[in-house]
Amino acid sequence: MKQVSFVSGKGGTGKSTVVSSLSLLVKNKMLADCDVDAPNLHLLLDNKVLLAEDFYGARAAVINRDVCLQCGRCRGVCRFDAINESFEIVPMHCEGCGACTIVCPVEAIRLETVKTGQTFVSGTARGTFAHALLDIGADGSGKLVTEVRKKLEQFKKDEQWILIDGSPGIGCVVIASIAGADAVVAVAEPTKSGLSDLERVLGVARHFRISGFVCINKFDLNPEITVEIENFCKNNDFTVIGKIPFDPGVMKALQEYKTPIEAGDQQFTQELENLWQNLQEEMNKKIDMD
Ligand code: SF4
Ligand code: SF4
Repeated sequence: MKQVSFVSGKGGTGKSTVVSSLSLLVKNKMLADCDVDAPNLHLLLDNKVLLAEDFYGARAAVINRDVCLQCGRCRGVCRFDAINESFEIVPMHCEGCGACTIVCPVEAIRLETVKTGQTFVSGTARGTFAHALLDIGADGSGKLVTEVRKKLEQFKKDEQWILIDGSPGIGCVVIASIAGADAVVAVAEPTKSGLSDLERVLGVARHFRISGFVCINKFDLNPEITVEIENFCKNNDFTVIGKIPFDPGVMKALQEYKTPIEAGDQQFTQELENLWQNLQEEMNKKIDMD
């Protein structure tokens, strides 16, 4: 089974549109939405949740008020102002560092795990699909992404592919989205900031020795920057596997909660078929070289 993670330096580059569309073209696959802060792949998949579980991805302090002497030592060491004047923990501030538990003279404070989100495994007509939702203000989105991928593994049968809709950015959620993947496909738009974001996210893939490929979305909106992106890729040994032109029909399809393929967009469908064909060929070349 091969895993391909689709990422972007920032949100809104068309990553989920590409993944949801490929989910119609690629046979025998599973799907994961690893953008746990703002998941949206489910909107295009018509999923039926089979398993929903709470995820406990952080720790927070709890004070036993029957034992507490109100000596104030815990407040003195807390660097996050997470203990108020009434010696109550402010959950949104507590980082679970445990410093307060060390200085408490009567062991009135302990750390407890706290719920930070939910994971889901869904059935869809296109394959099993894992996704999650981070609680508002919760930490540990990288851990939640890792849990999404673990959940999907539990449901695997004889699928050949896992298509991962990764998180935007270059932080721990992206690292959790691409760890162990066979390929990373960065979806970028042709803007100066898009090029800068692309360089950074491909740097993350290279750091983890994962083959990086590029899809330029709406490439014809800015031909000059598209050439810059292509030159950057050429000079740094990243292959551009897809160039998708701007198409108002894509937005219209998404407004109706359809992929452009379902909406009958022939050109988009052809571009996605080319992208997938190119990706497979490039991945096979890398295997031959290794
Ligand atoms: S250090 Fe312990 S005893 Fe002192 S105020 Fe904090 S919880 Fe209470
Ligand atoms: S665990 Fe750390 S952040 Fe939380 S209340 Fe204690 S000292 Fe403050």
